[in-house]
Amino acid sequence: MRTAGAEGVPRNVRSLYLHVPFCSHKCHYCDFYSLVDTQDRQEAFVERLIRELHGLSPFAQDGPLRTVFVGGGTPSLLRVDLWDRLLGTLRDRFDLTEIAQGRGEFTVECNPESVTPRLLEVLRAGGVDRISMGAQSFHAAHLKTLDRLHNPATVGRAIQMSRDAGFERLSVDLIFGVPEQTIDEWRNDLDSALELGTEHLSCYNLTYEQGTAMTARLNRGEFAPADEDVEVDMYELTVDHLAAAGLRRYEISNYSKPGREAQHNLAYWRQEQWLAAGPSASGHVGGWRWKNVARLDDYLRASPDGFPDVADCEAPEPARAMRERMWTGLRLWEGLDVASTLDCVRSFDASAVERLRAAAGKARDAGLLDELNGRWVLNKRGMLVADSIVVDFMSALDG
Ligand code: SF4
Repeated sequence: MRTAGAEGVPRNVRSLYLHVPFCSHKCHYCDFYSLVDTQDRQEAFVERLIRELHGLSPFAQDGPLRTVFVGGGTPSLLRVDLWDRLLGTLRDRFDLTEIAQGRGEFTVECNPESVTPRLLEVLRAGGVDRISMGAQSFHAAHLKTLDRLHNPATVGRAIQMSRDAGFERLSVDLIFGVPEQTIDEWRNDLDSALELGTEHLSCYNLTYEQGTAMTARLNRGEFAPADEDVEVDMYELTVDHLAAAGLRRYEISNYSKPGREAQHNLAYWRQEQWLAAGPSASGHVGGWRWKNVARLDDYLRASPDGFPDVADCEAPEPARAMRERMWTGLRLWEGLDVASTLDCVRSFDASAVERLRAAAGKARDAGLLDELNGRWVLNKRGMLVADSIVVDFMSALDG
């Protein structure tokens, strides 16, 4: 897989993910790989990332990239001169014409407290055309519970700064189900994001991941989690409220105006191919999946071929690929294409086809799934219990 350019190795990958691991501090609920930025390793990181991009670029040599996404961590913490170098490498090594012509998408995740006019100017000049802003909440008390560093006013300023720098495509991340958050406060969060003119919203239910400071506090009884019924009400409010504002739910946690869906994330959810660079970044090419080592020190270690060590690598395997397709596909408004799903399942286990039909029939009889235009699509009620339906679908593959 790591022999780009060799016979049979794909050269037509259209998406690229870069992971910037630095954060100002570790937020209590976060389980992404990130480390507190001490500025002294940013340069070494970018040099290493550039070498990795040199190694990856042959995988995309047959056509332009359609999507680039820089996530983290907090990419907006990276020094402006380093951004300049990184963007220069991307332009030199990859064909970004489709993005420049507005037929693709180049997103950078930013935190409101770390964007500056100069940074935004460099990003825009370097080809970035979409900002994903980590607002999380417009209530100071909930930002404090989440251990975020910004205050509500900072979000509006950062969005305005982005518009002033020429960004028209703006997405805002919000979190609901924060302890003590009321339905009215959540509605107010949605309205605040809409008033900023955002065309894309990601609304995540707060989850308590193993090993986070927030989960430890919960386990010590320092606060009570949100009531599950309230979380369901918040979710339903989100779908209806945003639909009334013209933002359609196109994935279980993502809403957009028509045509403004996050194309990069759609590439993940549709199980397309993407390259990935940076510590803990995961890629998917030619059915292979790999995940880079997470620790920055390990990532920085020199390797002769330009690639970092991998923490995990999986060879193509049809049943696993189908599970992944189910996991992400059923969470999309477009659902799963029935005929191609069954054909694919038949190709590795004909006996699973009837079991899969039965799982779909069970969800349909329960009023959770519709068959529309040859696709299995979860409806509003089904989305609330998407995990259990997906598990049923996956179990059908197990016999
Ligand atoms: S800024 Fe984002 S990535 Fe960094 S610790 Fe907070 S939630 Fe995690």
